[in-house]
Amino acid sequence: MDEICRNRAYAWRWRPGAAAHGYDARMGARGRKITGEAADTADAPMFELLGVRKHYGDSIAVDGISLAFARGVVTALIGSSGSGKSTLLRLLTGLLRPDAGEVRFDGCSLDAATLRQARQRMGYVIQEGGLFPHRTVLGNLSLLPVHLGWSGARVLERARELAVRVQLPEALLQRYPSELSGGQRQRVALMRALMLDPPVLLLDEPLGALDPIVRSELQEQLADMFAELDKTVLLVTHDVAEAAWLASRLVLLRDGRVEQDGSFAQLRQSPASTHVRRFLASARSLPEAP
Ligand code: ADP
Ligand code: MG
Repeated sequence: MDEICRNRAYAWRWRPGAAAHGYDARMGARGRKITGEAADTADAPMFELLGVRKHYGDSIAVDGISLAFARGVVTALIGSSGSGKSTLLRLLTGLLRPDAGEVRFDGCSLDAATLRQARQRMGYVIQEGGLFPHRTVLGNLSLLPVHLGWSGARVLERARELAVRVQLPEALLQRYPSELSGGQRQRVALMRALMLDPPVLLLDEPLGALDPIVRSELQEQLADMFAELDKTVLLVTHDVAEAAWLASRLVLLRDGRVEQDGSFAQLRQSPASTHVRRFLASARSLPEAP
């Protein structure tokens, strides 16, 4: 398996000049023909966590979690503040290494040899957006693509395409993050995650701290995007209604452990604990269970 993963890491290396959204067909997206060594792992879940633990000093952030995330599925990670959602997402990106257990991405253990290529296939929006303040919007969007050899014209074309998709006025591409509203900054953070058209999106409260109207507009746009683009999405939110609206699977964390894993209807109809029931009840306006 290790040999396969190293070969595939090589096969997935970004090739400047490849097709517009240029990932090798061997990425294993559903419905695509998988050939060669990649076929061995194409049926693997996109992500697997096997007994993963992470602590900071005395505090255990992730306490022995085993989960698999299938391709093309939108999963929401929910739970109270401090329950381990952001830590779990950082472990999936490979930016944070587990103290124990293993994180696998597309059938391969995330390690020094596979991390770089794996990261180019994940769009990640960190909790506070993480835009560089001294770069314009376009400067922020172009960082990774330019590093990978894209021309300025190609970056601009892709940025314009995404601006239309997230309804960001094109004129804002030349502004600095401090010259944007919170909602606009969050759109830019999403655009940056989408620049390389990655098969995976890891979104840490991408709509946090927005006013309700902007938030519901962006929720609609995200829902359309997820449905249309067939991506594997992990969305962290503390908003149950948002999770139910955007995700088909909800994983509720508590104190670094999985308290319940299922559809919104399952969590609502058969809550695993009083805590789950209370957590769901705390949402002000819940959609009807199907
Ligand atoms: P959530 O995203 O669900 O709010 P986090 O994953 O950020 O939770 O945090 C889980 C736990 O780990 C919390 O107790 C938090 O205080 C702790 N923690 C997170 N990041 C750090 C860090 N860099 N240093 C120390 N403790 C941390
Ligand atoms: Mg968090």
